[in-house]
Amino acid sequence: MRFWPRAATPYPQCIMEAMALRIVHLFPDLMSIYGDRGNVLALQQRSRWRGIDVEVRSHTAGAALDPDWADLYFFGGGQDQGQDVVGEDLQGPNGARLREGIASGAAALSICGGYQLLGHEYVPDGAPPIPGAGVLDVRTTVGSRRFVGNLLVKSDGGALVGFENHSGKTYLGPRARPLGRVLVGNGNNGEDRTEGAVQGRVIGCYLHGSLLPKNPWLADRLIGWALERRHGPVTLAPLDDTAEHAAQAQAMEVARART
Ligand code: GLN
Repeated sequence: MRFWPRAATPYPQCIMEAMALRIVHLFPDLMSIYGDRGNVLALQQRSRWRGIDVEVRSHTAGAALDPDWADLYFFGGGQDQGQDVVGEDLQGPNGARLREGIASGAAALSICGGYQLLGHEYVPDGAPPIPGAGVLDVRTTVGSRRFVGNLLVKSDGGALVGFENHSGKTYLGPRARPLGRVLVGNGNNGEDRTEGAVQGRVIGCYLHGSLLPKNPWLADRLIGWALERRHGPVTLAPLDDTAEHAAQAQAMEVARART
């Protein structure tokens, strides 16, 4: 079990084998709307505050994904027109490489359009289905109305708050479990009060925001999962999350006030 020095306090540095975290940001040119890139910044910074060396690479459609490199994939949201380009890339060798990377123990966080394309398929309005990578047992089809607004969720690790903006309705298959239960907003489909999906170390959800800066417990869960791939089980040193918790509380208050 490894303990990490808290960068927030003058703390004797543990003499530890240097840890490194490798993040691949999937399709940042096409799939990073509503502040989703802030999730990569949060993962980077919360790792660096703990003395963990972080490298971030981008993957764009047409490049060759290296299934052995990433410890963590981030896949943000995007519009339907971007999703069909991305879907095409994932139908080629890059889809198989992404599945191979996940099977090797890499973690993943996907938001909205990215979430939909980690599932089996996304069926847009008046267009053919866009096949997904199939690493989440979920299916999405466009609904008759757009879900837009604050989203507050009760999850096993604590509260999660953000905002949603999607017309896709996502339904979970038996191999995925919900990330949480909707307290405010619509979540996966506005019907079954579920939000998001978790399968192994892969998480998908509709929480834009960006999500991780004001929901630090989830950021640390993902960092821990990702580090485990090459370093074995780790215990992350706690950080001073006063500001993060204040931001979450404020967003939760706004979400609750608008119900
Ligand atoms: N185009 C998808 C939908 O409307 C995803 C949108 C998004 O990523 N915010 O459901």
